Amino acid sequence: MRKAYTRVYAEIDLDAVVFNMESMKNNLAPGTGLVGVVKADGYGHGSVPVARAIDFYVEAYAVATAEEGLLLRRHGIRKPVLILGPVHKSHYKRLIEQKIRPVIFTMEQADALSKEAVKLGKTALFHLAVDTGMSRIGLDGDENGARLAVKICNLPGIRAEGIFTHFARADESDKSWAKAQLDSFMHFLDLLESQGVQIPIRHCANSAAIIDLPGTSLSWARAGISMYGMYPSDEVAKEPVPLQPAMSLKSFVTYVKEIGPGRQVSYGGTFVAKTPMRIATIPVGYGDGYPRNLSGRGYVLIQGRRAPILGRVCMDQLMVDVSGIPEVDMDTGVTLIGKDGQEEIRVEDLAEWGGGFHYEIVCDIGKRVPRVYLRGGEVVGSKDYFEDEYPEF
Ligand SMILES: *Cc1c(COP(=O)(O)O)cnc(C)c1O
Repeated sequence: MRKAYTRVYAEIDLDAVVFNMESMKNNLAPGTGLVGVVKADGYGHGSVPVARAIDFYVEAYAVATAEEGLLLRRHGIRKPVLILGPVHKSHYKRLIEQKIRPVIFTMEQADALSKEAVKLGKTALFHLAVDTGMSRIGLDGDENGARLAVKICNLPGIRAEGIFTHFARADESDKSWAKAQLDSFMHFLDLLESQGVQIPIRHCANSAAIIDLPGTSLSWARAGISMYGMYPSDEVAKEPVPLQPAMSLKSFVTYVKEIGPGRQVSYGGTFVAKTPMRIATIPVGYGDGYPRNLSGRGYVLIQGRRAPILGRVCMDQLMVDVSGIPEVDMDTGVTLIGKDGQEEIRVEDLAEWGGGFHYEIVCDIGKRVPRVYLRGGEVVGSKDYFEDEYPEF
């Protein structure tokens, strides 16, 4: 049942997510599997509903932490789940039981996983991370790294299902860095093979590579930002992979008033009216993840028109100029992200206006903002962070 959200809500268009999956699939070689990256609660879109919506399109899911992986399992996601970031060994038992694949790149991690698997009498699958230039995680992509990989792969109770590396600069127009990383990854795979180690699933592509370097996709390609309808950067080609933004952010006017010349608006009085104006208050602020750096810079859409933000964005509210939009009243709908009539505000616009980063903006849309899921224009679910219960106290 749909609760009426009257303050603010994020609308997630699951058809757009599916469209984006189709679009990426069309750009990849037929044998390449897509991995749906749903870390950070699906880049703020909600990991479980997004995972369900794309289940048909993916070989596997990727998350960043043990808890994120276990959450998917708890909600009935059955396909392989891969954890892209290192996890503490105290999680290994649960992960093995739930068939969640951790990333491994040190002997300590491998030993701990092996011991746990042997104790449980199970085979633990894992993915080996290789560092080819990101300098974040992974064993070195050289002979020493290869020797370590061989030792890891020979431990009892564990099996390398996959091996991967991560591009640091695939979203730049100059692809020489990404290509060098790919070369060193391929060289590393050769080193392993020469020592008799063949790891079945190889992956390195992120969204930028799926779009601009589809030839680097190997067995799997890890789709993150593009799944949600955003390009990783302005420098990637947009034509080969059309994308539709999945998230809109909607609110309602809570107050409208006239102010005279000389009146200041919001903290610090950074905006001063020069003429009589009509201003509207909107109950959204940085406490909802709406970036404070949009103070005096951003716009919202009301009645299909742009209303500029006046003065500072507060924690829970912000004010906009509606002098040119006479039909605004209490409860009039407001679009902070998304389309209204001919106008559209994209997450990338917010990033540009405020000097922010589009990945970060969606991740940061807060827990105070319920997510409402649409399919075929119908509400099919919602995620509301205010439904917690603590019956013990
Ligand atoms: C987050 C992440 C991705 C997805 O990156 P996008 O740019 O969002 O496609 C892929 N691989 C790894 C290892 C990641 O950490």
